[in-house]
Amino acid sequence: MFDHIKLCPKCNSTEFGEGVLMGHAALMPKGTVFSMGSTITATVCTRCGHILEMKVKEPQKFIPKHKKQL
Ligand SMILES: [Zn+2]
Repeated sequence: MFDHIKLCPKCNSTEFGEGVLMGHAALMPKGTVFSMGSTITATVCTRCGHILEMKVKEPQKFIPKHKKQL
């Protein structure tokens, strides 16, 4: 599931799960009206609950328009 072993900086656990933030927690590209937001996935320490990282599923949605046209 993970390409390398992660270590929780809070409790040194190596047990992690993945969660998804959806609905109102979806991150929307700034200044866009019509596009849908991107789902956020979070890697969570299953021992202490610390969130190690958060990622959007479709980072290309956040490329500013003027850069896309280049
Ligand atoms: Zn932890």
